[in-house]
Amino acid sequence: MFVCAAREMGYEVIVLDPQLDSPAGSMASEHLQTAYDDRQSLDYLAEHCAVITTEFENVPAGAMEYLAQKKPVHPRANAVAISQNRIQEKTFIQSLGLATSPFIAIQSEQDLAQADAVAYPAILKTSTLGYDGKGQVVCRSAAEVTAAYQSLGKVACVLEQKIDLAREVSVVLGRNADGQCFCFPVAENEHANGILDVSMVPAEVEPDLAQQARHSAEQLAQGLDYVGVMAVEFFIDREGRLLVNEIAPRTHNTGHYTLDACYSSQFQLQVRMICGLPAGNLDCHSPVAMLNLLGDIWPEQGVPRWDAVLDMDNAFLHLYGKKQARKGRKMGHVSFLADDTEQARAALDRARLILS
Ligand code: ADP
Ligand code: MG
Repeated sequence: MFVCAAREMGYEVIVLDPQLDSPAGSMASEHLQTAYDDRQSLDYLAEHCAVITTEFENVPAGAMEYLAQKKPVHPRANAVAISQNRIQEKTFIQSLGLATSPFIAIQSEQDLAQADAVAYPAILKTSTLGYDGKGQVVCRSAAEVTAAYQSLGKVACVLEQKIDLAREVSVVLGRNADGQCFCFPVAENEHANGILDVSMVPAEVEPDLAQQARHSAEQLAQGLDYVGVMAVEFFIDREGRLLVNEIAPRTHNTGHYTLDACYSSQFQLQVRMICGLPAGNLDCHSPVAMLNLLGDIWPEQGVPRWDAVLDMDNAFLHLYGKKQARKGRKMGHVSFLADDTEQARAALDRARLILS
């Protein structure tokens, strides 16, 4: 989607993606199908690109540092590296005076002795390489933490308190090289099995709390000296407190709704931020409900009933061009615009029934 936005604005894009059937590669002017740290590909990018960015959180920091010696790389490697590591990420968030769920770092077996410092139920999460709820185990006692640590392969983890959630919200924002931040409206998110399921805008939160979320997201972007689009996920607990859950140093973590419900999308904002262009209008022109489409809804033969969904008023379907539908794999999303979020949500519920 970033490639589409860039090409719509007249840019050529070279994509480096090890995958053969790379959706981004298929939209790009050129696809370099090699490992992320392939020296020849990195040199080619540096030679031919005016600016370089990443959409994949787990791209090796070394590759980005190498490129940064030759061309502007946004976001910078260190900002991505912090968000790749939950221990560093939470420590960084707290260093700015922002609240996270209470946690301790489990770097080695010795640290398990401190497990009771966190209230149960707690979640043990691998510090790196987790996404869509993978690498997470809910624990109710120190013994369960020890067992979970072993089942996760004794890698570095965070043990964090499981928050009794009232809501989850997120902020997508862009920051330019001059340090100016531009936020999209706050979205309210629902997750199923640790995977984003539904987003609604406008979020049903007090204006003060929405403002606090936007302000916190900006503080994080400033603190990381981040250039480009990033997302911040928040928890709101039963006492109405805002806690930062995590930072996503890329587009398309949340905020899918910006494609259809905003004047300018997060992908266009990414192009604008890394190319030093004005931000444009980030307002929402319509209430919206977004349904994530996982591989689970694909029948054994053929495809889900897109015709029935496309027959609905103001339904906007986006399929990502992934060749294989697997359980839990994000294959696309559909947004429903309506006069209010209640109607948008009702349309979403109808579509879910059609597709299930
Ligand atoms: P990922 O990197 O896989 O997105 P998250 O840490 O964001 O991992 O967890 C995914 C989802 O699991 C969250 O959006 C939330 O719904 C739930 N979750 C994660 N941590 C907690 C927590 N400490 N308390 C309550 N729910 C949590
Ligand atoms: Mg998350």
